[in-house]
Amino acid sequence: MISDHKVLLHFLKSSFSTHQMDSLMKHDRFKTKGWKSFEIIKKYSLKDADKGKLFLYTPKQCNELIKKLIENPNLHGIDTLITNESPHSIEKYKETFILAQNEEAFYKVFNGEARNIIQNFFKSRKNLVGICQLKNCNVKDGLETAHLTKERKDIFKESALNSIVELEGELIKYDVYKTMTSYLLKHQAHNRIRFLCKKHHIELDALKKGSNKKTLKIFKDLISNDMDEIEKKKLKPSLVPAFPIGLKYKQINSNSGLVEWKKEVLPINYKIMKDGNVIYNGVHKEGGLKISGLTSSRNYEFSLISYNDYGESPTSYLNIKIMKD
Ligand SMILES: [Zn+2]
Repeated sequence: MISDHKVLLHFLKSSFSTHQMDSLMKHDRFKTKGWKSFEIIKKYSLKDADKGKLFLYTPKQCNELIKKLIENPNLHGIDTLITNESPHSIEKYKETFILAQNEEAFYKVFNGEARNIIQNFFKSRKNLVGICQLKNCNVKDGLETAHLTKERKDIFKESALNSIVELEGELIKYDVYKTMTSYLLKHQAHNRIRFLCKKHHIELDALKKGSNKKTLKIFKDLISNDMDEIEKKKLKPSLVPAFPIGLKYKQINSNSGLVEWKKEVLPINYKIMKDGNVIYNGVHKEGGLKISGLTSSRNYEFSLISYNDYGESPTSYLNIKIMKD
């Protein structure tokens, strides 16, 4: 079963062409009945000449396809289809355009659409993964589609910039289909999507925005994409704490401050280190741990480990420089 999953994961990560989906599902590619579709002209006030339609596959259709693939013993045929995949092979989505001031404005209109496309496209894969991909985290409900590196918006804007048709006065005419295919291709090409529980998704986004590069790297390395490992975790949940989150420092003055972190729901203990030496060992400190005797303009490294009777979590690090008063 695991190898079947791997083949399907590969397919879902590498193939999104509706044309290929059509041939696999034996659909007449000119019949779109029952598919999710958007008439761009109504929604986005385009001129008649720019009229076009955008058709998307729904999660239900993707799941149907997976079922068909599982039932089909000749799964190797899929590889050929993946190899031949090309966004240019899809004719029917062409001729869809939008006029916008810039990529940002284009994105604003398609923000929800861009989110839906990614969530819908990766939904089947999310169901297959079925558990937070962070090491030792056993959360199975409410998994979220997380971007490991670049954000959705940046990827969309990059794709739009390369899909400009022409300038119309103050406005830019973008090719919607070209943008969307490029946007999806960029997602699969760089293997950018992971499934995390809400808590760890928030932590990933916070670490991506912050300057805490060391912890970001540790955190990313804890996110496994190995299906065998994921299947094992589903069968045998881990009892060791996953990762202590929300480590930050609040300066009070040039020689003292507060080290704060988020409290876990389960009873758990924490160890705080300053430059590698344990300075606190115990339960969560509401309002933060007061640190004093610091020197202005100096660098310090704080680190945090959570632990219980079963073992210790990986370490979260925070490097700070004490500002002068
Ligand atoms: Zn998690």
